[in-house]
Amino acid sequence: MASFLDRILGLFSLDLGIDLGTANTLVAVRNKGIVINEPSWVAVDRKSRQVLAVGAEAKEMVGRTPNKIVAIRPLRDGVISDFEITEAMLDNFIKKAHSRALFNIPRPRVVIGIPSGVTEVEKRAVYDAARSAGAREVFLIEEPMAAAIGAGMPVTEAHGSLIVDIGGGTTEVAVFALGGIVVSRSIRVAGDEMDEDIINYARQKYNLLIGERMAEKIKISIGSAFPLPEEKTMSLRGRNLVTGLPESVEISSIEVREALSNSVNTIIETIRSTLDETPPELVADLMETGIGMAGGGSMLQGLVERVADETNIHTWLAEDPLTCVARGAEAVLEKLDDLARVLVGLERTTASRAGSGSPRL
Ligand code: ADP
Ligand code: MG
Repeated sequence: MASFLDRILGLFSLDLGIDLGTANTLVAVRNKGIVINEPSWVAVDRKSRQVLAVGAEAKEMVGRTPNKIVAIRPLRDGVISDFEITEAMLDNFIKKAHSRALFNIPRPRVVIGIPSGVTEVEKRAVYDAARSAGAREVFLIEEPMAAAIGAGMPVTEAHGSLIVDIGGGTTEVAVFALGGIVVSRSIRVAGDEMDEDIINYARQKYNLLIGERMAEKIKISIGSAFPLPEEKTMSLRGRNLVTGLPESVEISSIEVREALSNSVNTIIETIRSTLDETPPELVADLMETGIGMAGGGSMLQGLVERVADETNIHTWLAEDPLTCVARGAEAVLEKLDDLARVLVGLERTTASRAGSGSPRL
């Protein structure tokens, strides 16, 4: 498949596996692991659209930006809402990863995980962005596939596996066998929606306006999907909508669980309906291997237990759930020629190999 020249270049080049997530972007270098792990945020000048900061630095500006600057999450809902900003972000991260290498003469080959619902136009945009950031070759892989590989699931075997990847903007549920996705669902209910639930709850119950970061903090500290061995409380700080003054109230984990229940139920329902559609032979396999969970949202306390309880299938949290997609993409790079043939989700974007005006070097 790869030409002789490709193989020689591959020996020296710094190949990158990228998880272009709605909340966090990670870059892994082949044989080296993760070198970049930053929020998918970009700060731009409102007028000139000039990029001022990318990643953690841009996220720091959220809610604190002067009017002139806007902090943007270009992938917020799992769709690429802003091509140019996505391109600038990807360019910044690829260059950063590349400049950290000692020898950066050959340009990298890049495997990028993209949300499974993206359109051809969006795929093309990611492809072009990576190319213009200096990638020699670009391969796209559907995120649930990369997550499953990163979680150590045997996706290329006949045996079925099921991954649930709960990110910031989207939850993806997919069943694999023989290197392909058999059934899959992608919904826009995930970590961000949970934060939103907490904001709404605080507003309705306490007339308290809280920020996104406060809501996320509450979710991570005391949010849950199943009764906790010991229920907790935390103080919720914001602005009282009636008096307009700052205020702090105590909120319990029981209340937060109630606030999160709609989103959690929607996710559970999506897993159940995916199982409903899965061929019986594969369901039998799943009862053996269980349901694997990845993505930051899967770390919500009690969620794994809740999924197990509601599906009657043993459920487990992947090791290091936030890095599964990046590690999966890195693993694919190592076996690009073997896996490219098998993985349905891995597309050598039309322009990269076959067909007209091939930009391949
Ligand atoms: P994406 O792939 O969309 O970039 P990630 O997999 O990085 O998303 O997950 C980010 C989401 O996970 C955020 O909504 C964040 O609040 C949430 N998250 C991270 N840690 C936890 C935790 N311990 N409990 C609950 N949610 C968490
Ligand atoms: Mg993700």
